[in-house]
Amino acid sequence: MSVGLWQTPAEPAVEAVNTVVIGAGLIGAYLAARLAQANQRLVVLDARHVAGGASGRNGGLLLTGIAHSYAAAYQQYGHATTRALWQVTLRNREAMIATAQRLGTPVRRCGSTILACSDAESEELRESVALMHADGFTDAEWHADDPLNRGFLGGIVNAADGAIQPALLTAALLRESGAQLISACEVYALESQANGVLVRARDHAFLAQRVVLATNAWTPLLLPEFADLIVPGRGQVFATAPAPPVLQHSAYCDYGFVYFQQTPDKRFVLGGYRNLAFEQERTYADQTTALIQEQLEAFLARYFPELVAVPIERRWSGTMAFTSDGLPLVGRLRRDERIAFAVGFNGHGLGLGIMAAEELLSELAGGTAELFMARRLMGAAL
Ligand SMILES: Cc1cc2nc3c(=O)[nH]c(=O)nc-3n(C[C@H](O)[C@H](O)[C@H](O)COP(=O)(O)OP(=O)(O)OC[C@H]3O[C@@H](n4cnc5c(N)ncnc54)[C@H](O)[C@@H]3O)c2cc1C
Repeated sequence: MSVGLWQTPAEPAVEAVNTVVIGAGLIGAYLAARLAQANQRLVVLDARHVAGGASGRNGGLLLTGIAHSYAAAYQQYGHATTRALWQVTLRNREAMIATAQRLGTPVRRCGSTILACSDAESEELRESVALMHADGFTDAEWHADDPLNRGFLGGIVNAADGAIQPALLTAALLRESGAQLISACEVYALESQANGVLVRARDHAFLAQRVVLATNAWTPLLLPEFADLIVPGRGQVFATAPAPPVLQHSAYCDYGFVYFQQTPDKRFVLGGYRNLAFEQERTYADQTTALIQEQLEAFLARYFPELVAVPIERRWSGTMAFTSDGLPLVGRLRRDERIAFAVGFNGHGLGLGIMAAEELLSELAGGTAELFMARRLMGAAL
């Protein structure tokens, strides 16, 4: 993020505040709502607008678990961490549903299916369910036959998962916070001073006792400490016009590289296939491409042929933030502990976001983040 000299012809007056939250996505909005409960003078700044980043551009799936299957997570993180991760996502799901219900934004406990597209994936999912049951996660049911009867090679059904309207939830949280929101306000520098952190933004400057970054994929563009820690990944999606009902569940398949749902007004929303062009999709550019959109259409034609004639009314892209171990980063900068962050959601911010934000709040209250503690990856800087 940068701002040209000509865009700030006059230095703005510096306003003193308790907390500046940077990023008006779901995580920034949730943090603002929670911090406002402590009666702080709070300002939320966003370079775009409310839910202008990933929070307004995702698939809307509210799933238990992370991008890895339980079996793959077991391999990567070990037993105790995998179990703790799933417990956290269960708590997150319930907190997300309760928050949406409290604020009156759309939420459905429509269930989820994680589907296999190959024999190897089928075997991994079957093994995952066995491991989950052994760990007490008995909501997950293994179906050796395709639960959707569409040609998938088995799948996991979790009746308690759901879907949310993420942009409306973000906006409702911000309204609830009562925080001053300034849109179209890029933050381009954070300067540590003795009496606070000077937040320099386009047309505004704040001297804050605390700065909370909820900038997800864009974090490295503001803070060089994150240059090797967060990599952007573009996700592409389309939505059809209202279509005949074909699907109840939030659905996830091909190792999570494809995801889909049918909304209450019966639009079929389908996204994914970043894995077909990893290099090209490692970008901040907000653009859809023929390569990926055509593959999404081919997926629709293969598994939901009756929808091929339904017009595709919207195509869009959004930017996710990937970390090297697939988990978010929560913590404070070592060089200035007044600067805190909850970022790096690896395409699962609806499934993880509230609990990551809660870890940050506990750190701000004098505790330490646990599962998502940034220092696991960052050594000296953070
Ligand atoms: C295509 C796609 C599909 C997805 N599907 C799902 C899904 O189905 N389920 C799920 O759980 N997750 C999904 N995700 C991931 C989920 O959307 C994100 O993890 C979540 O929205 C992250 O929220 P956030 O508030 O951290 O980030 P964002 O919503 O990206 O918000 C960050 C905000 O920070 C602002 N910002 C950044 N830098 C600055 C700066 N310097 N100054 C001012 N403002 C700044 C940006 O403008 C942006 O508004 C998907 C993501 C994408 C892109």
